[in-house]
Amino acid sequence: MLIVQKYGGTSVGGLDRIENVANRVAKSKREGNSLVVVVSAMSGETNKLVEYASHFSKTPAKAEMDMLLSSGERVTAALLAIALQEMGVDAVAMTGRQAGIKTDGNHTFARIESIDTTAMKSALDGGKVVVVAGFQGISQKGQVTTLGRGGSDLSAVAIAGALKANACEIYSDVDGIYTTDPRIEPKAKKMNYISYDEMLELASLGAKVLQNRSVELAKKLNVRIVAKSSFSNASGTIIEKEIKEMEAVLVSGIALDRNQARVTVREVSDRPGIAAEIFTLLAKEQINVDMIIQNASTDGTTNLGFTVPESEVERAKEVISAFDHDIGGMDFDENVCKVSVVGVGMKSHSGVAAKAFSAMASNNINIEMISTSEIKVSMVINEKYGELAVRTLHDAYELDK
Ligand code: ASP
Ligand code: MG
Repeated sequence: MLIVQKYGGTSVGGLDRIENVANRVAKSKREGNSLVVVVSAMSGETNKLVEYASHFSKTPAKAEMDMLLSSGERVTAALLAIALQEMGVDAVAMTGRQAGIKTDGNHTFARIESIDTTAMKSALDGGKVVVVAGFQGISQKGQVTTLGRGGSDLSAVAIAGALKANACEIYSDVDGIYTTDPRIEPKAKKMNYISYDEMLELASLGAKVLQNRSVELAKKLNVRIVAKSSFSNASGTIIEKEIKEMEAVLVSGIALDRNQARVTVREVSDRPGIAAEIFTLLAKEQINVDMIIQNASTDGTTNLGFTVPESEVERAKEVISAFDHDIGGMDFDENVCKVSVVGVGMKSHSGVAAKAFSAMASNNINIEMISTSEIKVSMVINEKYGELAVRTLHDAYELDK
């Protein structure tokens, strides 16, 4: 089998840990696999480099930042290859450029455009383990680029897609994706598998495990991800395309987003085009609107509610005040959070939303806003009930079973 393995910062966060990774790689190689190993910088290293730059400038040039930040991953790649060679495993370390990773020129947040797999393939054909520095590539102009924080996941998924690898194993210090945050609900259980779309909806649960952009890319390239821990031999969580059997499970997980604020615009004149005007202006200001609700109008006006990230409330206020003549008033509530129930099983089962609302009711939690999609029911509630809501819902759908 051809396997791409990616080891995150904690997994390579010290010389003994790199040694541990080398042992794991060597074992998989001995079992007969062909391996490309993508590595992150040692934990804390990228932040340290950012610090260094800020010592000299508040606005360091992005091209130089890429030159600087890409070095962290190179250190790990070289050390891992050396450790493998010492164990008698033939290995070669490559930078992003050497591995053929071509990106656009958007420094510090580049997009992978294509991968020339020639060098990796010839090393693999020669029986070598290919160790690639993650998080980086090369622009058309030949400059080093990086892919955005957490971007080594993206490197691994893109390489797995380009090489048509059998699997892309992403290693961290967490042994998979849980039904909810175990710090909130200790009864949370590790999932065996989950679809790409569920994973994207449950982003906050996978935050420590997988960068969201890499899940989107995996979906696009149909790369099967296995999220595992490099500190145990537990089986991990498989993230793959939706199969019919997944629908047998009603709900997969519960997510909590604390970083939400509710905006209510009262007595909005009910005329064609008003929503377009308001949301176009919010978009222009790059304000991320999440849930939107509008009621049927009475007396020619209507109420419009939506949520934005807490940090964007002030800017949202400014935008809305531009509509003074068209609205009765507005209010804001930063003490809200969003709880989401996610599962592809909702597509084929009824009563999922009703169950969520009943669970809230039985705890006397007021639901301020509701939005649903094919695979999700989200509720905005008072922030102080967020954790209670998560535990209640986890119980209601028997996710601990
Ligand atoms: N070292 C980079 C970061 O911390 C990339 C990565 O680890 O994925 O964002
Ligand atoms: Mg990471």
